[in-house]
Amino acid sequence: MKNKFLFLIPLTPKAYLTPNRSALRALSLQNLVNQNYDNWSAILIGKTDETIPKTSNFIILDVEGTKEAKLQAATKYIKDTNLDFDYLIRLDDDDMFNNKLLSKLAEKEFDIYIDKYHTFWDASTGSIAQQVPYWFANTCIHKKEHALTAYGTFPRDTTVFTKEKPYLIENGHGDFHKYYNQNHTILVAERNDPLYVRTLNPDSHSSLFTGDFVKYMNLFGIWRGNTLKNYSFLKDFKLPVLPNVQRKDQDFMFKLKNTYAMLKGLMNFQRKVIWKDQAALQMSKVILPYANKECVNCLLTNSDSEDITFNSKGVCNYCVSYEKKHLATKSKTDRSKDLKQLVEQIKTVGKGKQYDCIIGVSGGIDSTYVAYLSKQLGLRPLAVHLDYGWNSELAVTNINATLQKLGIDLFTYVINWEEIKDLQLAFLKASVVDIELINDFAIFAALHNEAHKRGVKYVLNGMNIETEGEKLPKGWAHEKFDQLNILSIHKRFGKVKLKSYPKLSYFKRYYLTVIYKLKWLPILNYVSYNKAEVKDLMIKELGWRDYGGKHFESIFTRFYQAYILPNKFHIDKRKFHLSVLICSGQITKEEALIEMQKPIYDPQLLKEDYDFVLKKLGLSESEFEAILDLPIKDHLDYDSYIKKHYKYHAQFFKFMKPFTKIIKTLRGIK
Ligand SMILES: [Zn+2]
Repeated sequence: MKNKFLFLIPLTPKAYLTPNRSALRALSLQNLVNQNYDNWSAILIGKTDETIPKTSNFIILDVEGTKEAKLQAATKYIKDTNLDFDYLIRLDDDDMFNNKLLSKLAEKEFDIYIDKYHTFWDASTGSIAQQVPYWFANTCIHKKEHALTAYGTFPRDTTVFTKEKPYLIENGHGDFHKYYNQNHTILVAERNDPLYVRTLNPDSHSSLFTGDFVKYMNLFGIWRGNTLKNYSFLKDFKLPVLPNVQRKDQDFMFKLKNTYAMLKGLMNFQRKVIWKDQAALQMSKVILPYANKECVNCLLTNSDSEDITFNSKGVCNYCVSYEKKHLATKSKTDRSKDLKQLVEQIKTVGKGKQYDCIIGVSGGIDSTYVAYLSKQLGLRPLAVHLDYGWNSELAVTNINATLQKLGIDLFTYVINWEEIKDLQLAFLKASVVDIELINDFAIFAALHNEAHKRGVKYVLNGMNIETEGEKLPKGWAHEKFDQLNILSIHKRFGKVKLKSYPKLSYFKRYYLTVIYKLKWLPILNYVSYNKAEVKDLMIKELGWRDYGGKHFESIFTRFYQAYILPNKFHIDKRKFHLSVLICSGQITKEEALIEMQKPIYDPQLLKEDYDFVLKKLGLSESEFEAILDLPIKDHLDYDSYIKKHYKYHAQFFKFMKPFTKIIKTLRGIK
């Protein structure tokens, strides 16, 4: 059975019908008639004229009065005539309904279909603006039984009361959404394919009411070109009487304020309505609306990742797993003894070689401390730095200054900028979350290869459980050794041949770790690591300088974490890093919450970074914004070791065991 949809459309009173309003009404109604679906009807309430398209889908109710009175007349008509339909939609007669939507919902079963992004059309210039409030717009698709449930309050100034409580469909603006809860199936429209577009025009009732059209329009956010999938017809539409309005440009500060408002809207929406994105299905099902749950210990909530769970005490699985790992490390009563043994081993194995270990340096606090420690322990490290074209000057200054003070040699591995640029553009177009995979993998690969080339068997790194935990929440990042994923995304979207970009295939990595026995040492796990204290020490001893943000040694990383992640993927990494600091007892939850209140980005710096990053990647603002608007893809939508090689990990190791011995003997590896 195909769903039957019913629209309720209060008509604009004659007194307000300017030539523009009239033209918009004709467009709005004609647009309904043009739908690629036929099982629908619409009740038009009010006085009609010759601009109304002739169709049997329209039921005309000749009732005058306020909009509220008209809605009540329509619901009374529905009840009196026992009208047959499955879903009910409220629409104003100048708003544009998505005329390809109903065919998609023809056989879907849901309680309500809503827009997360409320979309506005400036009918005088053709531009589009979007906002995300946490409430539902009046125009959404309700299942009949919900639409006609007595619920909520009448809108203010309603003059006609036919009953004590209104039906949900007659509720005041943004009020009825509280009705829906975790037991309901809530479908959410995609950003570029909203369920309807609200029209704004200079002589609309509400804009006349405001008096200043420019100011009025600026209430709706940033105006851009039309990128909406099913609304191309809006581009060709011209108002019969073009209004004499001077449109002021929206300057940078305005856009910044609005981007912030949008971000806040998204967070609010996320907090109040938790949905599960299913971009592939073109729609999303909201799960657990309003039933947001925050870990009693840290900052994570069930909206942060699909795999977050809570135990009976309300502690999240990330906290539980941190505690387990931490106990395991702590239970070895004396980590310094382990460290001493390890250092002896490194020295013995490295005897006669120019260097006995490799350390990766980024200029950040973790790797600087690793360099410092390695000298304290009497090791002879070679520092390897990856130059991928984005390092901030401060990072480079930090590296040079600290290594010079420590007397450590530096090898800088330079990747051709055109290759990195091509890879980053490919990842942006692929619409996957972990763009940093490009340089994280490159660092791993370069360190492995450099160690192998120089006959070194130990790589010291700055990963640590004390302040980083182990793994980001699911969906925040991708597996960092997945060369296949990088290459397959690049193959699909890239153009430049990768020559200098370091490689480390699954099999090469197997060879280096199992046969060559390269050891990857998270040395900070062997010492107690209090970040604040270590920072002071590094500043005092080595003249190290702080960036004011984790991993902000690269401008791209800063822009990625502070702009792309929150804007496109609704991820604020600070939340996780602060949560780990809470777990390790370095800050309290209250302190972390205060930290989260701080703006993620200094506005001036955002402007500089935004311009800088776009210029460096050769993207115009509209190209970049279009990329941000692309529906989010999973890394596994592309080829990956996870889908292939890792599945046969255990079998492969078992199979290779006898050969490993032979290869070792042949190669003379002890
Ligand atoms: Zn937690």
